[in-house]
Amino acid sequence: MIYLDYASTCPPSEAVIQEFARVSQASFGNASSKHVVGREASRVLESARASVLDSLRVKLTHRCLFLSGATEANNLAIKGVALAYQNRGKRIITTQVEHPSVLNAFRQLGDKFGFEVVFLPVQENGSVDPAALQKEMSKDVILVSIMAVNNETGAINDLDALSAIVHSFPKAFFHSDVTQGIGKIKIPYEKLDLISFSGHKIAALKGTGCLVMKKTIEPLPFSSGGDQEYGIRSGTVDVGGAHSLAFALKQVTANQAENSKKTSLLRDYLWEKLSEFDEISFNSVKNGSPYVVNFSLRRHKASVIVEGLSERGICVSSISACSSKGEPISYVLEAMGKSHDDAANSIRVSPAPWTSKEEIDALIDALRVLFKEVRPR
Ligand code: PMP
Repeated sequence: MIYLDYASTCPPSEAVIQEFARVSQASFGNASSKHVVGREASRVLESARASVLDSLRVKLTHRCLFLSGATEANNLAIKGVALAYQNRGKRIITTQVEHPSVLNAFRQLGDKFGFEVVFLPVQENGSVDPAALQKEMSKDVILVSIMAVNNETGAINDLDALSAIVHSFPKAFFHSDVTQGIGKIKIPYEKLDLISFSGHKIAALKGTGCLVMKKTIEPLPFSSGGDQEYGIRSGTVDVGGAHSLAFALKQVTANQAENSKKTSLLRDYLWEKLSEFDEISFNSVKNGSPYVVNFSLRRHKASVIVEGLSERGICVSSISACSSKGEPISYVLEAMGKSHDDAANSIRVSPAPWTSKEEIDALIDALRVLFKEVRPR
């Protein structure tokens, strides 16, 4: 089996599983319990929290909440902040290409809570033009949410420039979903007010994730209860999950530069090989994340080719959410101005630093056969 869909999810590393098992057994206590077993669990939990903040270099300014993943973190950051601070203004801004957990949170705030929502367009390369954000900012804006790296295309946003614009408006918070960028590319975490990510994209366990945010921010809590996680996310904390996530994050940040170098070489090799097919047009750009290569097929149906690859034991993604007409189509590619056919026939290949050239060669060989054998659309 050749797995080239790491942007979807990554298997947990052996070390992460061992750390999860060790801590879940040795420090099994309820971190809220006041006895010695509880205090030991609490010590491990607080050390995991400190480790996450340390990995992102925001120990003095931010706090970290352990949650179930980026979906929950995005919902809490966006709805929690918008609802808690709505008396300051009701204008909120995001982009047309965010993950559905961001897009739908904004839609809900617009549809059900009377917020004025702006969905920024993106440029042809898939990233947000800072000037487009500048144009939409006003004193009523309380929240801007822009992802670090797009999950479909790998397009990178200039969070330095974007955060400077947001912070020239003192009432506005800047949130970023860094799920596809954390441990992979350089991100100015210290300039972000709220940061969301999932563990399973960095070889931690599914069902783990964090919302890291400035200490002064108080989002509206959704789960009321025993006041765990600063009273913002009640419920007994999964100490093993938190510890193993912090462990995985420490590893990927320590190896980030080396991994990025390896993956960039691999991406360049893949790009060169794919360029030999006149069937392919690239949707990713070369200065995007090396961990994502997205392209469209000019003649074939992407879903059929992805199925054919899967039958040959090669896993890549054909990204599709259903359009209003019920056909699968990428809203991200549409927002980038790609044609309807391109947006309906895209394939995402997402390698890991340990992917081999031989695996890329096998993908290219299989594509060559399928482009010949499969009937064009
Ligand atoms: N944001 C981005 C950019 C993602 O790629 C994903 C996962 N596909 C999510 C959020 C949601 O992550 P999860 O499903 O782990 O909550």
